[in-house]
Amino acid sequence: MRTYNLDHNATTPMSAHAIQAMAEAQALYPGNASSTHSQGAEARKVLEQQRIILAIRLNCEPSELYFSSGGTEANNWAIRGPFHAMPGAALVYSGIEHKSILNTIKAVRWGRIIHPIKTLNTGLICLDDLLCAIRDINLGLWPGSTETPITDVELPKPILISVMLANNETGVIQPIPELVRSVRSEFPDNEIVIHADAVQAFGKIKVDVQELGVDAMTVSAHKLGGPKGVGALYLKKGVKIEPLLYGGHQEGDRRAGTENVAGARGFAVAAADRLSALSLYTVPVRTMRNLLEAEIANGLTDIWINGGEVDRLPNTSSMGFLGVDAEALLLLLSSAGIMVSTGSACEAHQDQPSHVLRAMGQDDKRARSTIRFSLSSDLSMEDVKHVARMVIESVDVLRGLGDLP
Ligand code: PLP
Repeated sequence: MRTYNLDHNATTPMSAHAIQAMAEAQALYPGNASSTHSQGAEARKVLEQQRIILAIRLNCEPSELYFSSGGTEANNWAIRGPFHAMPGAALVYSGIEHKSILNTIKAVRWGRIIHPIKTLNTGLICLDDLLCAIRDINLGLWPGSTETPITDVELPKPILISVMLANNETGVIQPIPELVRSVRSEFPDNEIVIHADAVQAFGKIKVDVQELGVDAMTVSAHKLGGPKGVGALYLKKGVKIEPLLYGGHQEGDRRAGTENVAGARGFAVAAADRLSALSLYTVPVRTMRNLLEAEIANGLTDIWINGGEVDRLPNTSSMGFLGVDAEALLLLLSSAGIMVSTGSACEAHQDQPSHVLRAMGQDDKRARSTIRFSLSSDLSMEDVKHVARMVIESVDVLRGLGDLP
């Protein structure tokens, strides 16, 4: 049976070029990049070349880029690192973050002020809520509290802000440059570290750390045709951060562990290929995503697109089908060879409705009626029309069954 992959936000297959480059690096540079002999030096040279390739793509200095074992590790580090380096720091984050951010915050929150920023129905975060929270924190208040300000605490507090650039479920792109400008101009006296999780954005839209203005940013290889288990954290020069992993002196003493030279090579090659001709990806993918949405909207009533009114990743569509159980729809589509998801792969086996859709103000029922389509340029227009037909047929079947017990 032919299969149709519309789950590229979970992971996307490695490009042939990245596979080849990685295999070559594995075979030709077997040394430990930290060894001082010639084999080690060769491996180190290759590793540093990959750092340069990625740094050029992100518009940062190579010395500001630290390889990691993926987006999850880099996100853990981006939260824990500044938190431990800035005693008493408050943490303000969006409620629609990936679980690698939210669960790290859960683990470190004790004894600190934390504040999840409100999300609007559109999927955008509420910038006013973020600014109000920092104003409260500067008054010695827990954000939103109406109590009298505490006067015996040291103010202003250092603040860590974490807001993702693009959401993995809806594709909604947050206005990070505006957020950074507002925060920095209103709170010049606070020590503020702003982190953006760009795991879904890198390789799908332009991601330039200077334009974004962030202090830290996470990227991952396997979302753009590179290997799984490889990522990086951008850390602006001067940002205070403790290491996450302790051990050897790798990555400028900041991230211990023998460097994954071949993985870095696969990452850099995939990123360079994708980004040197980004429009070859974005234009067809956006066209097909729009076609998918239009075809489904032509064939069905009572559907909605989460985040459809605002700027989204070109490949992502989060679509709701009134009265339809998304899990049942996913299984029907899967039996027809169509791979989609109900949200984040990390939450696929949880019986919880999407925290992203809940944060956008949807009730459980609507949140449980939503499917995420995430496309890549390997599909054709005919494929998309076929997928749309199958979605329409499957939704008709499920609606015909009425409410499931
Ligand atoms: N952040 C976002 C927004 C993601 O979508 C993902 C993965 O789905 C991650 C972080 C985790 O990245 P990784 O799979 O490389 O650990």
